[in-house]
Amino acid sequence: MTEIYQKLEKIVSKKFLSNSIYVRHAYSRNVDLVLQGVPDIVIRPKDAKEISEILKVANENNMPVIPRGGGICEFGGSKPIGDGGIVLDMKRMNNIINLDEDNLIVTIEAGISWGKLNEYLCHYGLYTGCMGPGSGMSASVGGGISHHSVGGGGCAKYGACTNQLVSLEVVLPTGEIIETGSQANKFSKYPFNRFGNGPDLAGLFCGDNGIFGVKTKVSLQIFPKPKFADYKTFLMPRKSAETAAQIMTEIRQKGIDVYDAMFIPDVVVAIGSERGMFPLWEGIKRKLGMFFYTIEANSKIELEERVKNLDEIILGKKSEFLGPEIKDGNIAKWHYAEQGHWQFYHNLWGMYPSMQPLSAECFCPISAFPKILQDIDQWDIEHESDMRKIFDITNVRPISGSGPVPLVDGNNVEITAGFVSFWRYYDGEIHDLIKETNIKLWKSLLERVIRHGVQWYMMGDYVSRFMVDIGAYSEEFYNLMTSIKKNLDPNMILSRGKFNFWE
Ligand SMILES: Cc1cc2nc3c(=O)[nH]c(=O)nc-3n(C[C@H](O)[C@H](O)[C@H](O)COP(=O)(O)OP(=O)(O)OC[C@H]3O[C@@H](n4cnc5c(N)ncnc54)[C@H](O)[C@@H]3O)c2cc1C
Repeated sequence: MTEIYQKLEKIVSKKFLSNSIYVRHAYSRNVDLVLQGVPDIVIRPKDAKEISEILKVANENNMPVIPRGGGICEFGGSKPIGDGGIVLDMKRMNNIINLDEDNLIVTIEAGISWGKLNEYLCHYGLYTGCMGPGSGMSASVGGGISHHSVGGGGCAKYGACTNQLVSLEVVLPTGEIIETGSQANKFSKYPFNRFGNGPDLAGLFCGDNGIFGVKTKVSLQIFPKPKFADYKTFLMPRKSAETAAQIMTEIRQKGIDVYDAMFIPDVVVAIGSERGMFPLWEGIKRKLGMFFYTIEANSKIELEERVKNLDEIILGKKSEFLGPEIKDGNIAKWHYAEQGHWQFYHNLWGMYPSMQPLSAECFCPISAFPKILQDIDQWDIEHESDMRKIFDITNVRPISGSGPVPLVDGNNVEITAGFVSFWRYYDGEIHDLIKETNIKLWKSLLERVIRHGVQWYMMGDYVSRFMVDIGAYSEEFYNLMTSIKKNLDPNMILSRGKFNFWE
């Protein structure tokens, strides 16, 4: 180990390299409390060249390397699987490289956060359209592209953040540096198009969960932020998931270009209001589901027309408009006009002290989500005896269901399926029974949701291996993925263990 450390010291300056026990433990987790793995070394490179050298050393010494952006993966994706290896912290690479205002393309280093990037763009009246994930104040653009992130605002209009990708610079696991799209032509002066010059190689790295290469430079299409916007929130009738799905379908069928459209299930509204997460809904008597939209336009007339069409659809389904101001319960206004899109989800993580979401995020068609939510309720009933074991220790029963359900481009929604439970040392004592029961329940619920045919996008340590373990991938698909991985990464250095790609 000392020898590897000394080799790395020759690549980055001492200040950006550590094997101290404190630093290693600080990098041993992501957001979840469940999946842990302590690295041997943490390193913060400054550019692609340093990363290339680090990867060469790792290959020579058969040492796994795990890229880490903001480190906010919910399922252990940016820490080692098991102990050992090098965590490659990308946060030093957080600069804006170029703003091409004529062609509306921004080029940035992959470790920059969505918050920093959009703060810069807003001075030019521009934004990234899809604002990345709900964790965008700290999550990085490289992490977002590696996950296909959505949910931080704008995904009904712009889709996942990978839709805006124009070109990538990637360091391959063996250390070669490549550029994709228009930049595959070495005579191209600046990135302008993702496709062409052969296959879409950028696509290979989109949603790869950091297994095929380290993204170092990202070029994204950007957009002028429209001058006009409106935002409304509605209390839904009973059976609110079905109604929300009908509304979303009609929005698509009528071709209304909403910026965001989101359904918040009744259980989230009820518990969230009770626990102080939604102070603006505390006064509302009937804690049913909520639906909100935000819409943009380039003129007042255009905006009014769109709002009229949307309101006709939503009010026609017996929903109740809460009023224009945030104090009336209009969460949509807070979400769009006051940057709530990057704060919204954070509230949900602090529901009860020491409570922990054991969930996973996936896409499914609009028409499928009410049935999936119903089936999660059914799953909860079937697992009453296990839920009770946790209740008997903690006096609070785990809560299952989905978090908010946003409309994503095309006919998709995103659901966060899972349950919220305590972790084993919630009261300072160690309760192994809670740990065992949580893991058993988590696996069981994930399998149940996988069987609905959903598509996971943030897979991390856990879901990537689980898909393989339960045989959910078609054999041909997994074989192709394996042969690409073996070709790019013969020593399985990068993110070793994800998707069961071990040594
Ligand atoms: C409160 C909260 C809200 C969230 N909201 C959302 C949401 O709305 N939508 C959503 O999609 N997710 C959400 N997430 C999950 C997560 O934050 C996002 O998926 C985010 O995009 C991860 O970015 P990151 O920079 O933190 O990535 P990390 O966690 O650091 O890494 C994620 C994955 O990408 C890889 N990786 C990171 N950087 C690179 C790179 N430069 N090159 C190659 N691989 C890399 C890692 O190895 C890992 O597999 C949320 C999480 C929390 C805690």
